Amino acid sequence: MDGALPIRLDLADALAALGAIVAAHDDVFFAGEVFADGTYRELFTGPGSERVLGGPVPPGKAFEEVWAEHVHPDDRVVYAEMNQTAERGEHAEREYRLVGFDGVVRWVHDRLRPRPATGDGRRIVDGVISDVTARRAQEAALAEAIETAEQRARTDALTGLFNRRHFHEAAAAELVRSDREGSAIGLVLLDVDRFKAVNDRYGHDVGDQVLVAVSELLGRSVRQYDIVARWGGEEFVVLLPGIADDPSLVNVATEITDALRATPIETTAGPLPVTISAGAIRRLPYGDGLDVALDAADRALYAAKRRGRDRVVLAGEVTARDAIDEEPEAVRLAEGLAIAASIREAIPPLHCRQVADLAAAIAGALALTPAEVLRCRLGGWLHDVGKLAMSDTVLQAAAQRELDDEQRALLRRHAEVGAAVVSALPSLSDVAPAIRHHHERFDGGGYPSGLAGDGIPLEARIVAVADAYSALTAGRAYQRPLDHDDAMLTLVAAGGASVDPQIVEALARVFSGRALDDVA
Ligand code: GH3
Ligand code: MG
Ligand code: MG
Repeated sequence: MDGALPIRLDLADALAALGAIVAAHDDVFFAGEVFADGTYRELFTGPGSERVLGGPVPPGKAFEEVWAEHVHPDDRVVYAEMNQTAERGEHAEREYRLVGFDGVVRWVHDRLRPRPATGDGRRIVDGVISDVTARRAQEAALAEAIETAEQRARTDALTGLFNRRHFHEAAAAELVRSDREGSAIGLVLLDVDRFKAVNDRYGHDVGDQVLVAVSELLGRSVRQYDIVARWGGEEFVVLLPGIADDPSLVNVATEITDALRATPIETTAGPLPVTISAGAIRRLPYGDGLDVALDAADRALYAAKRRGRDRVVLAGEVTARDAIDEEPEAVRLAEGLAIAASIREAIPPLHCRQVADLAAAIAGALALTPAEVLRCRLGGWLHDVGKLAMSDTVLQAAAQRELDDEQRALLRRHAEVGAAVVSALPSLSDVAPAIRHHHERFDGGGYPSGLAGDGIPLEARIVAVADAYSALTAGRAYQRPLDHDDAMLTLVAAGGASVDPQIVEALARVFSGRALDDVA
């Protein structure tokens, strides 16, 4: 004895330990024989198989038969494949479903490790089976969540239509196809008319209802393989692959505008009449890129708006005139007020229009910004709007040049009154200085503030010259109209006294530089 303890293998203890390990795991350990036809025969099966089978194997039944019967019908091929692989001596691993005795479908992960073939060529495998149902469920939930997220990323939440991003992708693919197949693509951009008014009058909710209804109509109006998307706000885009010719394209778009016009949209605020404008283009194979084509469709849409809305314009029909800026809402408002004042003063509204056009033209000749040009145009329309508040007596006396001092003082108030009127209207308020000061004189002798030279707001100096030219050439009850040359001579002579000579010069450039039809 050298003191070392004898090593004694206690087989019973070892087996008990192994059994405990196996039992502690949810996995099922087994050994069996596999055959070339993909079947399996049990040699040994550890504990736990009844868990994955949802019940014990009935007495008298062969384990492998029961197992094979419980493999989900859709997974039988996978199961046989796995066994065949093992039968060839290769590691085999598959996941498949079992339909349990309890009716529960479980996913199992089955791993087979073949041993070297026995002398007589039989193939024995050792294996482990794990229940992976929970993991599979998680994976499925994750896949679904990803699918939903992707779907959401491609669609517009309000209307369920594709969004602009998806449209770009789909359209790019269609363009490639169009080039390959030599077929044209139709593009239609649509924009709901005066939609802001719907929101303003009935609220955003009702506006949303209109957008949903319009998108449904669009979906119904196109062919199955056309793509409809929400471009943004109240704008939509339709892509029509393989559109034969321009008339077919116009037909599709017109059906949409017609349908919308024909039937008011049902909303919680009652039925609302809604119209839509469309710009369309047929993009030929090997033609423009998507952005260029969409740009052309957008210009056509703009032209449709300009021509009165509720219509379809083809990109090919757009003319230079269509490109001129649409008159903003403020101009229409100014026109309305100016016409009211003209009627009150008994002078033709033509005068205000001419002052407006001339003032804008002078501003253009001075290379002012678009905002300044617009202020001059509005100032031209509205310079005398304060006369709305003058009494008939004062206006009549003014027309006859028979004002007494008190009446003259009252009449002069029209500049400030006019400025006060437009100050109250948000879209016109920045025109107030042009109106308040349009009777200032360049030499400082005018009213209401006695400003001089550059101290007079530029727009006011411009409106003053435009007003003077219009008055000189139109004539008044007390004065014969001057012809253009005499009117210009008069203004040049007044330069530095009543009017700004540089503005008179700009007016001269307006007349020399371009056709007169839009100012005459
Ligand atoms: P036009 O005929 O010139 O197109 O006039 P419009 O009023 O339709 O055009 P504008 O572009 O001035 O107004 C579009 C409005 O659409 C402004 C915006 O508040 C509204 N809008 C944009 N998206 C939504 C939306 O999702 N829901 C609602 N209710 N309104 C929206
Ligand atoms: Mg719009
Ligand atoms: Mg609109």
